[in-house]
Amino acid sequence: MSAERVLVTGAAGSVGGQLLPGLAGRPLRLFDREAADHPDAEVVTGELTDPAALERALDGVGAVVHLAGNPDPSAPWEELRGPNVEGFAALLAAAERAGVRRVVFASSVHAMGAYEADGRVPVDAAWAPRACCPYGATKVFDEAVAQVASRRGPVSTVGLRLGATVPEPTKRSQLASWLGPADLRQLVVRALDADVHHGVFPAVSGGTRRHWDLTAARTGLGYEPALDSEEFASGVQDDGTDTGVCPR
Ligand SMILES: [Zn+2]
Repeated sequence: MSAERVLVTGAAGSVGGQLLPGLAGRPLRLFDREAADHPDAEVVTGELTDPAALERALDGVGAVVHLAGNPDPSAPWEELRGPNVEGFAALLAAAERAGVRRVVFASSVHAMGAYEADGRVPVDAAWAPRACCPYGATKVFDEAVAQVASRRGPVSTVGLRLGATVPEPTKRSQLASWLGPADLRQLVVRALDADVHHGVFPAVSGGTRRHWDLTAARTGLGYEPALDSEEFASGVQDDGTDTGVCPR
């Protein structure tokens, strides 16, 4: 769409590595604790909670794809609070100060995981958030603080409730929420460019085993999933469950 510079936080992580090829052609700046190996992008290293590092990272940036944080659904609150709560709030505040147009941020299916864990599927994105774990609760907070920022000011915020974001599903529990690389890239590009001021959308690939209703992503972002976990279903390890979220 435009030639605005896009900052990707958490760029050195697993999701970042799967995403970056989808942002080719856009001026990129990558932010992480350690330098991501990317020949065509500027790199800024630092901590999300360091205001000076955030100011450097956001200077001249039009949009942010925020992937940084603790991605471990089994992590305790003490390990999640800093990166997922304080870190995201700091990033949003700095983005507002820097005049950033849009922040696309990684939420998670764990923000709605209690529905899937209780068998209330397919999960409708319009239902009230209902996390299955402290990790999911931090994502519910991130969705709320983003909504407040967009309600009060010009910064636009789009949350993506990412499912199992791996190149291929390898376990039965990943089949219902798998988000493959091509669909991840499509969703983030659409989230950067969509005509929406604030929204939170389900972010999984298509397929018959899906537990997540994609209507909101189709209508709000124009998402058309290209991948289906079914083609991997016969080869995955049976880890005893059809859901990727946390049991009660
Ligand atoms: Zn969970």
